[in-house]
Amino acid sequence: MQLLDGKFASEKIKLEIAAEAAEFLASSGRQPHLLAILVGNDGGSETYVASKMKNCEKVGFKSSLIRYDDSVTEEELLQKIAEINADKGVDGLIVQLPLPKHIDPEKVTEAIDYRKDVDGFHPVNLGRMMRNLPCFIPATPYGIMLLLKAYEIDTIGKHCVVVGRSNIVGSPMSILMARNANPGNCTVTLTHSKTANLKELALQADIIVAAIGKKNFVTADMVKPGAVIIDVGINRETSATTKSGFKLYGDVDFENVAPLASWITPVPGGVGLMTIVGLLKNTLASAKKEIYPD
Ligand code: NDP
Repeated sequence: MQLLDGKFASEKIKLEIAAEAAEFLASSGRQPHLLAILVGNDGGSETYVASKMKNCEKVGFKSSLIRYDDSVTEEELLQKIAEINADKGVDGLIVQLPLPKHIDPEKVTEAIDYRKDVDGFHPVNLGRMMRNLPCFIPATPYGIMLLLKAYEIDTIGKHCVVVGRSNIVGSPMSILMARNANPGNCTVTLTHSKTANLKELALQADIIVAAIGKKNFVTADMVKPGAVIIDVGINRETSATTKSGFKLYGDVDFENVAPLASWITPVPGGVGLMTIVGLLKNTLASAKKEIYPD
């Protein structure tokens, strides 16, 4: 078994991003700028946003954070998004999910100008991805593709089983793996909670992408020897033994699956770090107007 080391790959790619950001600053007189909106005090969301901001600083981007408490109305939030859409000094706008129940995440996603949608959730970007056109690819699937590329994992003609069909991970991942590209060119099976024979399907997989949100869901008896395992899950549990007071677990039973796998991502230290790289690359591409020239 070998580790698909998100820390190693992300650090390497971030050096390249930092060099490009410095060039951009020299030629344009400004830094690429990511703005995040955070609503409420969800512990996981706080951590993710803080990490995104910190990584922006590391690669020479400007980052800004607008915070609201849970009582913000949908209208106020949409008004703020409209303001930021019109602000030429902001290249990327993300609204951290989940949002409080009274705010419709679909409305918020669609309100973001697709030219600043560096999370890649807007229907325009998803539609363009579907058609293999230039777009902002959703940050987590983008990060996974960069990780597969960094380790030169052979995906052509392989059977990839994606577990989970969310709009932000599983569904776009299935499209990317099936695309005529490298990485890509897989035969893809997209599974979900209504899939009848998940274990049989998983056992046929050369590559498993687990994006479910259930600790240790993928067990050793579901994995073919030699399979490549991508664990997207981030399951937080409180812990008395860690400094932060919580511990992260993936969707894969790492201890028992790793000995069977040819390659496997750890949690933490795998896909999460690559997601940030996907976000940074999209923000840089937005600043440089590589995807949408105007
Ligand atoms: P969602 O809750 O939106 O989707 C979960 C998916 O898993 C659904 O499609 C659901 O099926 C499926 N599922 C649930 N139970 C089962 C089951 N018993 N058998 C088969 N499929 C099942 O989650 P996300 O995609 O947003 O996130 C998934 C995980 O990835 C979470 O742990 C999340 O924290 C993590 N994550 C990590 C990121 C990173 O950077 N590493 C980024 C984003 C998410 P159905 O559609 O039928 O309900």
